[in-house]
Parts: sequence; structure tokens; C-alpha cells
Amino acid sequence: MSFDSLGLRAELITAVSKKGYTEPTSIQAQSIPLILEGRDLMGGAQTGTGKTASFTLPVLQRLMESGDAKPKAGKVRALVLTPTRELAAQVAESVRDYGQHLPLSSFVIFGGVNINPQKQKLRKGVDILVATPGRLLDHVSQNTVDLSSVEILVLDEADRMLDMGFIRDIRKVLALLPQQKQTLLFSATFSNEIKKLTSSLLHNPALVEV
Ligand code: AMP
Repeated sequence: MSFDSLGLRAELITAVSKKGYTEPTSIQAQSIPLILEGRDLMGGAQTGTGKTASFTLPVLQRLMESGDAKPKAGKVRALVLTPTRELAAQVAESVRDYGQHLPLSSFVIFGGVNINPQKQKLRKGVDILVATPGRLLDHVSQNTVDLSSVEILVLDEADRMLDMGFIRDIRKVLALLPQQKQTLLFSATFSNEIKKLTSSLLHNPALVEV
């Protein structure tokens, strides 16, 4: 199995080759074609399986395909929620790496640092925003970000977000997103709480487990 056979565009294949990856991991081979088709997806995968690229690559491609590659001021086209600042920073680095040959913007926000520089950047609009839930809501309450035109939502390490008590924050964020969007949820475990969240959030999701 090669990356070429997954339906990814040349700019993404080039970026993947530069990383030295020769073939997709199992979660990548299974998820990428489904996400490119526009399906909602529930991915059962731990860190170390290559799950970050399994959503980052197709999200970048979907944004290129959905036309208008420039977000409007204050708007976000794809939102990735992560439980911790470390994971947010890692995911953002992957987005930059894999998207280096594409004209898409990305930005990462998390708490514990000055909010003001983040505000300036968000006001311009961003194609892909990676965020921890608390800091994202800080920006929402200060009107620096507008989530009403999000096309793709990714919940990364959803089980950890729930364990860390983010369910209320997540629900607040979900209420600000359009009904019609593509949603991808990754979790190492599928507790009842996760199932409850997914049943209301995902539409006819494809299930992928590694
Ligand atoms: P993740 O599970 O997304 O945290 O990725 C775990 C590690 O695997 C990261 O260091 C990635 O750079 C690496 N990785 C991701 N995809 C591949 C691949 N197809 N081949 C080799 N390494 C990969």
C-alpha cells in the first residue's frame, strides 16, 4: 500500500515523502479515503499509530477542494480540539508540515500564555485552528473568533478531553458550530460517555479501529 493510492493530491504526497514515510499506517490507510469522501468518522487509535496524519492530510485536502481557500475575517474553516497544550502544539506542527505546499493558513491557541497576540492573528481568519477548549471559549467570549462557518470539526483524544472535565466546554463549542459539517472523532477508548457524545454529534459515522 502506498500513499499514492489513497487519493491524496501531489502537494500532500510530496510533504509526506519529505518526512520519509514510505507507506501509510493502518489508521491512515483506513481513514484517509473515508474522510476524503466526506464521511463522519469515529477512529479508535492511540498516540503512536499515526492518527495525526490520518486526519490532518485529508482535512487539508478537503479544504482545498471546498473552493474558497481564503477564510473570511475572524472565521475558521476547520477546527481541531485537543485536550492539552502539548498535543495542540504537536498537531499544529503536523498541520504546518503536511500543508507546507498548500496556500492554507493555520494557527494554534492554548491557555497559559498571553491572549492578545492570539487575538490579532484570529481576527484575520484562519483555515485550520488547533485549540484547547478553554482558551477557545475565552476567545469566543471576547468575540475574536467566529465558529459559524466551520466546515470540519476534529475532536482529538476525545476520551482524554472528557477525563479532564472538558465536556461542558466541548458542548458549548459544539453549540456554536453549524449543523452541517464533517466531524471526525478520535479516541483510544469508547466509554459510555464517548458513545453519548458521538450519537448526538456524528452522522452515520464510519468506524475505524486499530
Ligand atoms: P501520531 O500517532 O500521530 O502521534 O504519530 C506517531 C509518530 O509516527 C509520529 O512521530 C509521526 O511522525 C510518525 N508517523 C506518522 N505516520 C507515519 C508513517 N506513515 N510512516 C512512518 N511514520 C509515521
